[in-house]
Amino acid sequence: MSFDLENLIRENVKRLVPYSSARDEFKGEAKIFLDANENSLGSPLTKWYNRYPDPLQLKVKEKLSVIKGVAVENTFLGNGSDECIDILIRAFCEPKEDNIIICPPTYGMYQVSADINDVRVKKVKLTPDFQLDLPGIEEAIDGNTKIIFLCSPNNPTGNSLRREDIGLILDNFFGIVVIDEAYINFSRTKTFSSSLVDYPNLVVMQTFSKAWGLAALRLGISFASREIIHVMNKIKPPYNIGQASQDLALKAMDEVEQVNDMIRVLVEQREVLRHELLQLPVVEKIFPSDANFLLVKVKDGKGMYDFLLVRGIVVRDRSRVELCEGCLRITVGTEAENVQLFNAMAEFK
Ligand SMILES: *Cc1c(COP(=O)(O)O)cnc(C)c1O
Repeated sequence: MSFDLENLIRENVKRLVPYSSARDEFKGEAKIFLDANENSLGSPLTKWYNRYPDPLQLKVKEKLSVIKGVAVENTFLGNGSDECIDILIRAFCEPKEDNIIICPPTYGMYQVSADINDVRVKKVKLTPDFQLDLPGIEEAIDGNTKIIFLCSPNNPTGNSLRREDIGLILDNFFGIVVIDEAYINFSRTKTFSSSLVDYPNLVVMQTFSKAWGLAALRLGISFASREIIHVMNKIKPPYNIGQASQDLALKAMDEVEQVNDMIRVLVEQREVLRHELLQLPVVEKIFPSDANFLLVKVKDGKGMYDFLLVRGIVVRDRSRVELCEGCLRITVGTEAENVQLFNAMAEFK
């Protein structure tokens, strides 16, 4: 057996004739554009916003490719990673027939997206040290398993998955392997985006929402073979990334230095916060983190959550999530915010 993309794509997607927009049908230079029913007079904003945006976001991808070292043809942009997840499931999973594998505790959107698309979810729990249960995954894979979603660094546990384990899955599973690297910039581990040539079944997801500080833009990234990118482009909404998001992403990508500075500060603050919180008797354990948050086990998870909330501090209550019992997921804040969090937690009886 080997990887065969044609075999994985849903029949209706293979047959699909994609929507052909005005921007698809005419791409050249012209003096007068009367092909897309736009408002020819302009807009209340700047004069460009009356026009539909580039459906393939070429300028954004070109700039991103310089930063990330991945070719434009291997890049897909989604309205958040959440759109990438949905599009992958819709491209490969036949509702009611096919399934995906996820490894909880992990990001909730894989399950939600599969549920919306009526695609079965097989769950193979992480081991107690939050690593992949390889025998469990092998056992869970069947003839209808189309996608395995791996999240590294993982949300909400914060750790990176072992590279060798991910490699084993990429080598031995002939469906799509998605590695969600939303938090990769906070990690010492290397991205898989440089391994696209080795693995035709690999999709690496990243996002502008975390390290880039642009969650409001809704801009998610998928890196994959040109064949997989082609399938994703075929089924995406024609204008899935608005012009405002494209303009602002282009502008933000001129500020890589500033982003790197923020990453440095957040990683530093993460370790300061870890060190401080470990002084508190109420804190039982803090798990290693390669992300911009800490998974903190406290004596009374729900109690602490409510206690903080009353003091105007909201964290993520993961205390009833399997393998995270009693845990709060705490995003690293500014230095001042972290001090306030510490002071509040120190008051908890
Ligand atoms: C935050 C996060 C994302 C980002 O999703 P966007 O839709 O791009 O904002 C993706 N994956 C994981 C695991 C996350 O925690």
